[in-house]
Amino acid sequence: MAVQPKKNEMPVQKASERARNFKEVALGYDMETAVAEAGRCLNCKNKPCIEGCPVNISIPEFILKVKNRDFDGAYSVLSENSSLPAVCGRVCPQETQCESKCTLGIKFEPVGIGRLERFVADYHNSKSEIKIDLPESNGRKVAVIGSGPSGLTCAGDLAKKGYKVTVFEALHLAGGVLVYGIPEFRLPKEIVKKEVETLKQYGVDIQTNVIIGKTLTVDELFEEGYEAVFVGSGAGLPKFMGIKGESLKGVYSANEFLTRANLMKAYDSTSQTPIMKAKNVAVVGGGNVAMDSARTALRLGAENVYIVYRRSMDELPARKEEVEHAEEEGIKFEILRNPVEIIGYSNPDDRRDPKNGFVTGIKVRKCELGDPDERGRRRPVEIEGSEYIIDVDCVIMSIGTSPNPLIKSTTKGLEVNSRGGIIVEENTGKTSKKGVYAGGDAVTGAATVILAMGAGKTAAKAIDEYLTKKYNFSKKQNNVDMSTVFNLTDVVAMSQEINIYNDGNVFKCYPDESEYNEIVSAWSDMTNDSHEMPAFGVSLDRETRKAKESGLWVEFVFGKQLEYNGMPFENLLINVAKGYQGFNLIRYSSKYGYDGRCFYLDLVNKNMTNFYNILCDFS
Ligand SMILES: Cc1cc2nc3c(=O)[nH]c(=O)nc-3n(C[C@H](O)[C@H](O)[C@H](O)COP(=O)(O)OP(=O)(O)OC[C@H]3O[C@@H](n4cnc5c(N)ncnc54)[C@H](O)[C@@H]3O)c2cc1C
Ligand code: SF4
Repeated sequence: MAVQPKKNEMPVQKASERARNFKEVALGYDMETAVAEAGRCLNCKNKPCIEGCPVNISIPEFILKVKNRDFDGAYSVLSENSSLPAVCGRVCPQETQCESKCTLGIKFEPVGIGRLERFVADYHNSKSEIKIDLPESNGRKVAVIGSGPSGLTCAGDLAKKGYKVTVFEALHLAGGVLVYGIPEFRLPKEIVKKEVETLKQYGVDIQTNVIIGKTLTVDELFEEGYEAVFVGSGAGLPKFMGIKGESLKGVYSANEFLTRANLMKAYDSTSQTPIMKAKNVAVVGGGNVAMDSARTALRLGAENVYIVYRRSMDELPARKEEVEHAEEEGIKFEILRNPVEIIGYSNPDDRRDPKNGFVTGIKVRKCELGDPDERGRRRPVEIEGSEYIIDVDCVIMSIGTSPNPLIKSTTKGLEVNSRGGIIVEENTGKTSKKGVYAGGDAVTGAATVILAMGAGKTAAKAIDEYLTKKYNFSKKQNNVDMSTVFNLTDVVAMSQEINIYNDGNVFKCYPDESEYNEIVSAWSDMTNDSHEMPAFGVSLDRETRKAKESGLWVEFVFGKQLEYNGMPFENLLINVAKGYQGFNLIRYSSKYGYDGRCFYLDLVNKNMTNFYNILCDFS
């Protein structure tokens, strides 16, 4: 059968109507159109589209399921690699990613992969009841800073593995740029809300209005018992050009302008958020943020909105679809123009003139394209003497953002690069500070949703490996045979002769309550862990003498020799615990089983006044 050369059209609101409302522009495929579009896929053997996807979604597999009308199955395939398919289906630059690699695209238009992703996610989300399989909790706490795509993805992946995740968000709503930056007409906030609600159902606790670095520091999070921290704080610090007039009234950073309009709903007449509803607006920049600012200004009632960009249309970094939509809506492109000054009103005869200090225009200089820069994009070269003024009463600066230095400046040992991005190991997101991981714009500077999501995923995997290695929970069931319990006398006798060596890692058990605090601090120094250490616990090398003096000590060096008289050493420890002051074992966690490197006990004393959590890490 002949291949349909063009993508199936996705219906959109008419340009003249949508330019004056904030409703979503693109309306999505219906079921029949989605099935027809899926039918265009060749199901190629070499699957080049997957290579183009930063999170390696099994694209042909999900498309085949759409073709076969198995939409739930298609969603399952998508959700294996993407935690925010409804978002990615709307905002990912597919034309430079998966669709750019599509075999069909060599001769015809590529398969509408993004449109299909959006359809499948919307189909899934439209179902009133979505079953959540709650994972068994492993009791470990992880903190996530920032609720943008990187933070939400990291939180979701960890929650699905049983971690107790708390997301700390500086703003009053979760979603990061998805709620404060990308406008409603491109990404309805209900979609983000739904994704956040799903995460909450997985047990993720989202604490808004908490600024890490002010309300709490990263180190305080560790003190509160979080065992790993993911920093997904984005790149929300706006850049300015440093030209004259940038402090005039009517000059906004795109971040401020969009936050007022989106998060603070300034477009809504019932909102109390002030925003300038200017007649003539210049937006400086050519990325997605610039397009969003321009189209928002238009919807707020502007008559003329200009994109001022120093390269040509071919170099515009914004998504192609957004540029096309902006053009259709009437945004004017002042390309190959570089701003040199923002002009303001000044009445020297009347300092109280209310118009004083307000923007009246932007002076731009014409440019031509020179040699390519290090990224291969041709450099803009200014043409001297070509300046002219565009009359505007508002200027929105959209020339990029960088990571906010707050977390770096309040976290000892966290290293950043010269652009303020947190330095991480590429394959894990591990930072220079133990237990701290990072990803998304906070690392790369302003980038894309899918890359942030991918970084959140990578870090979640690495955090899980780190904590699994540290505590080795959940991998093996270990049924301790309590019939082999010793009495205290046996234990004392035994403890004095046990001396099992390996690798020089020496751990000793001793029961002296007075040493509790010292052990805790030694333990924290060694492991960066603030877990409760019991009076009866695992002491460090330097405690040997005191432990021995206490008259009851057991010295373990774990590794090869893990048994004493055929009994697993953890049984021995349990016996010691039981013998000492009549502790009761409330959990030798089968969940946190032992495989030769660590184990985990919860004990309570006879009077039930103290709970002890013994955690032995021999990794
Ligand atoms: C207007 C706009 C349009 C865009 N359009 C697109 C697009 O079409 N396609 C695309 O792929 N990408 C787009 N992007 C880029 C994309 O949104 C970002 O790359 C992505 O959101 C980065 O995700 P993140 O999780 O790293 O950070 P963010 O989404 O920035 O989230 C970081 C969160 O951390 C919070 N935070 C910061 N500091 C702290 C702190 N100290 N304590 C607690 N919380 C803190 C912030 O409030 C924020 O909620 C756009 C960006 C903007 C601004
Ligand atoms: S490259 Fe295009 S046609 Fe081939 S499997 Fe992927 S989406 Fe289908």
